Amino acid sequence: MNRIDPKLLATLRQPADLVERGLAKPADLADLERVAARYAVAVTPEVAGLIDTENPDDPIARQFIPSALELVHAAGESADPIGDDAHSPVAGIVHRYPDRVLFKLVHVCAVYCRFCFRREMVGPGKATALSEDAYRAALDYIRTNTEIWEVILTGGDPLMLSPRRLAEIMTDLAGIDHVRIVRLHTRVPVAAPKRIDADMIGALRACGVTTWIAVHANHPRELTGEARGACARLADAGIPLVSQTVLLRGVNDDAATLEALMRAFVENRIKPYYLHHGDLAPGTAHLRTTIAEGQELMRHLRGRVSGLCQPEYVLDIPGGHGKAPIGPHYLSHANSQGSELSLQTRYRIVDYCGDVHLYPPES
Ligand code: SF4
Repeated sequence: MNRIDPKLLATLRQPADLVERGLAKPADLADLERVAARYAVAVTPEVAGLIDTENPDDPIARQFIPSALELVHAAGESADPIGDDAHSPVAGIVHRYPDRVLFKLVHVCAVYCRFCFRREMVGPGKATALSEDAYRAALDYIRTNTEIWEVILTGGDPLMLSPRRLAEIMTDLAGIDHVRIVRLHTRVPVAAPKRIDADMIGALRACGVTTWIAVHANHPRELTGEARGACARLADAGIPLVSQTVLLRGVNDDAATLEALMRAFVENRIKPYYLHHGDLAPGTAHLRTTIAEGQELMRHLRGRVSGLCQPEYVLDIPGGHGKAPIGPHYLSHANSQGSELSLQTRYRIVDYCGDVHLYPPES
């Protein structure tokens, strides 16, 4: 069985506790109880300490403190917004692309994000981990499908497993010849940084596979001194880090915040990887931006920060059709259709100031 490490103490899990700590209003308690009956709540001490209780629009609170708006379900929202189920050949595995699989080992997280795309599947009350039989069947699936080069441990949060169990899993995966990369997607370095200790780092490294960590953070304030220390311990151990961020209304949907976040990632040896457009998870419309807003923010980043700081803006296409880049386009054909002068293709290309140029230039 996958055992959950029992180190996370004093995590706030009940709306009444949030009210008592001044993180939610007493008048909202009844609504928040209704939200919590459906979607898990967990706020670690580290995250609770980051919330500015004087600010009703605090960007950290918006990510973790439940809201009555989660009871409103918008058109198009779905319990499985990115279509995991359509590509799940055995329990715990999502095989959407030929060379990689998602391996969902646990259904619990250190914190529960209010915008989570798997919110119907994570949290207490859901199955907390794969059974031993299901785990073995999932490993067999990976072993049998020799095109699988990369295994992505996701969840729930795989760093909620005890280091001992994680080490066993890494060893099992490293024992499969064609598996060369194990990537773990996690909130733990920012939400529960103390978990990234020597035991956990030892567990993450296994002979025969390269481990990558995708750190999930959405606001520069999440990268506290403790979080930076956790990321540094991973990087110092030779584990490459990439970021994933969800574009969220009222959290990071302004140019200055997004720019500061991407710079903070790079300063901490985390290569910006994905900026996800908000998925159509139930009760999350109040946190989603429009795609046009996301593209405008990406244009801003292009003009202000180096290529190192550029994430790819992506949408998980509902129905399980995978990710598509949805950032702004900078290149278009300049030749008119059917023109006899079109012996050489000419393009229009937009620079970081928004000015248009021809390529090749007109002589
Ligand atoms: S850590 Fe990831 S899986 Fe867990 S609630 Fe947040 S977004 Fe969902």
